[in-house]
Amino acid sequence: MSTITTPINFTELGLISPLLARLTELKYQQPTPIQAQAIPSVLDGHDLIAGANTGSGKTATFALPLLQQIFVQQQADKTLSSSRGKGNYVTGLILVPTRELAKQVADSIKSYAVHFNGAIKTVAVFGGVSSNTQMLALRGGTDILVATPGRLLDLITNNAIKLDKVKTLVLDEADRMLSLGFTEELAALLALLPKKKQTLLFSATFPEQVQTLTQELLNNPVEIQLQSADASTLVQRVFTVNKGQKTALLAHLIKQHQWRQALIFVNAKNNCNHLADKLSKRGITAEVFHGDKGQGARSRVLEAFKAGEIDVLIATDIAARGLDIEKLPVVINFDLPRSPSDYMHRIGRSGRAGEVGLALSLIDHEDYHHFKIIEKKNKIRLEREQVAGFEVAEDDLLIAADKPMAKPEGSGKKKRKNKAPTNADIWLKNS
Ligand code: AMP
Repeated sequence: MSTITTPINFTELGLISPLLARLTELKYQQPTPIQAQAIPSVLDGHDLIAGANTGSGKTATFALPLLQQIFVQQQADKTLSSSRGKGNYVTGLILVPTRELAKQVADSIKSYAVHFNGAIKTVAVFGGVSSNTQMLALRGGTDILVATPGRLLDLITNNAIKLDKVKTLVLDEADRMLSLGFTEELAALLALLPKKKQTLLFSATFPEQVQTLTQELLNNPVEIQLQSADASTLVQRVFTVNKGQKTALLAHLIKQHQWRQALIFVNAKNNCNHLADKLSKRGITAEVFHGDKGQGARSRVLEAFKAGEIDVLIATDIAARGLDIEKLPVVINFDLPRSPSDYMHRIGRSGRAGEVGLALSLIDHEDYHHFKIIEKKNKIRLEREQVAGFEVAEDDLLIAADKPMAKPEGSGKKKRKNKAPTNADIWLKNS
C-alpha cells in the first residue's frame, strides 16, 4: 500500500487544463474521497483496487487519468512524428457488467473529453442491439472502448477489434460482472490482453471470486476502501408491515411524502407490472423497468426517469447497478434483494455525490430473517419502525427486532428518545 496524502482540489491531483476546465464547467468543486486518493496514483501508472460504489465518483476516478494519459501520449507521438498504431486497436479498455452502465460510462468519458476537441475517440459496445453499427464505429480502432464482456468477445471473433495494444484495463463493478455469470467471458478476454498494462479494478464488494481475480490480475496495487454508503448523506430506514398491507403502505408513503421521484425495487419482472397495476388502482402512475423490455424501451424509460418525466419507477435489480440518476430522493425495497451486496447496490441509487438520500425497506414477516442477514453482511443495524395505521402484531415485532421497537411513525410521540433527528427525519418533515 502506498502512503497517500489527500489533495483538496483538482489542480493538486495533477490533471491537465483541458480536464480542469471541463470539471469547472461541470461544477465539480472538489474531488470526492476516491478521486482524491486514487487519481494521483493512477496518473503515476499504478494498478489500483478500489472498494467503491456507484455514487462515489468512481467513473471520473478512472476516466480522467485515462483521458489524460492517452492525450499526453498522442502529443508525444506527434512530437516524435511517429504515427499512432493503425488498424482496429484499442488503448483503454473498460469492462462493465450492463448495457446501461456501458452507455453511461461512455457518455461521462465523452463529456470529460470535450476540450480535447475530438482527439480522443470513445466507443461503447454492448449486447441487445445489432452489432453492425458498433462494428462501423470501431473501424480504424478507438482510443477508449467501454464494453460488456459477451458483445466484446463477439466483436473480437468477427475481427472488429483487437486487444493486443491495450495499455489500461478497467474492470468496473467487478463483483457484478462475476455474479452475472461473465466469469468465462472475462477469462477469455483477459487472455487476449498484453501482459504489461495498467489495471484498475472497482468493486462494491469483495467476495472470494473477486479476490482471486485481483490476485491474478493486479501488480502491487494501491488499495482504497471507502465506506459503501456514506451515512452522512444516505439514511436507511426499515418499516415492518403485514404482507397483505405492503402495497397499501407503499401507496400511503408515496402520497404522504410526495417524493419528487421514487425508485422501487421488486424481485421479478412480473412483480413490476403487477405492482404498477395495483398502484394505478390507488391513483399512482408508475412505469416499469426490467429485462423483458427491449433495449429501446429500456433506454426510453430510463431517459424519461432521468429527465424527471416519470415520478415512480418500479424496477428489478437490473437498475440497481451503475445507473446514475441525479439526486434521486428515495429508493424503496418493496421486495428485499436476495443478496446482501445487491442491497448496497440498490440503496446506492440515492444519496449520490453528497446529496441527502433515503433508502426504505418494507419488510413483512417472511423477510425478517433475511433482513437480519443483509444487516449482518453489510455491518449495519437498523431500528425496525412502524407506520401508524400499518402496525404489525406484537408477536411479529419480537421476531423482527432484537431490541425494543420504535413507536409508529406519525403516532405523535418522539421516535428516537434523546437522539438528534436524522437527515431523513428533517428531510421527510420538509418534503
Ligand atoms: P459515479 O460514482 O462515477 O457514478 O458518479 C456519481 C455522480 O457524481 C455522477 O453524476 C458524477 O457526475 C458526479 N460526480 C463525480 N465526481 C464529482 C465531483 N468531484 N463533484 C461533484 N459531482 C461529481
